[in-house]
Amino acid sequence: MPEGDSVYKAAAKLRAALDQQVLTRTDFRVPAFATLDLSGHTVTSVVPRGKHLLIRVAEGSDDAAGPASEPDSGLTIHSHLKMEGVWKIYANGERWRKPSYLARGVLSTATKTAVGFELGLLEVVPTASEDSIVGHLGPDLLGPDWDADLALANLLSDPARPVALALLDQRNLAGLGNVYANELSFLRGFRPDTPIGEVADPKRLVALAFKAIMVNKDRPIRNLTGLPRGKPRYWVHGRRGEACLRCGTRIESDHLGTCPTDTRFTWWCPSCQK
Ligand SMILES: [Zn+2]
Repeated sequence: MPEGDSVYKAAAKLRAALDQQVLTRTDFRVPAFATLDLSGHTVTSVVPRGKHLLIRVAEGSDDAAGPASEPDSGLTIHSHLKMEGVWKIYANGERWRKPSYLARGVLSTATKTAVGFELGLLEVVPTASEDSIVGHLGPDLLGPDWDADLALANLLSDPARPVALALLDQRNLAGLGNVYANELSFLRGFRPDTPIGEVADPKRLVALAFKAIMVNKDRPIRNLTGLPRGKPRYWVHGRRGEACLRCGTRIESDHLGTCPTDTRFTWWCPSCQK
């Protein structure tokens, strides 16, 4: 499951390669769009929205008052990285460093090729109906619409929900994955299964979520501990049985949640988190 900072970085990379460029070749290797050809379209923007990537295109080039200037006529190439998905950028003719059978989408310009490997989702929709894809998302931690008060109100709307699951629910706030849900719980000193309504000072939790993801959005490698390379970059995530970096107690882990679509692995320090 991607974290919002990964999607933000992927968007920046795609933007650098594709923005305002004319697509010379497209290849959608998903059945519903296998025959779609967007060559000749211009990329008008690349936008991360929570964990969703939106590559907007319009017919024709941008230099005349053509269809490209009418946002309603555009299309959006929507992808979601899910577990393993990644967009890679290559110079045209450069050998892909991942197997071609894993490619789901290929977008080429005159000089560059963007390849989406193992995307959890790839579809093309009218830009005018993007809301059907991302309209359900809560305030985006890395977006222009970030609204801490609304995120807090959303989180507290279901006070019995375990805090990790509440943080992961993209309808509450968009951008956090399991790494942040666990690390934020550690940093605020409560176990990830604590009901959100019982968390002391949840406003500080939201503020910390924003600060942590903002600090990490431009780092090549996410790091929540601030420790140098070679040392653990997470306090608890993925550290079952290892010593807590603060107190030395062994980190514990378990599944959280009861319904199959809402279950996560969690980690915590039994001494530091109550
Ligand atoms: Zn500890």
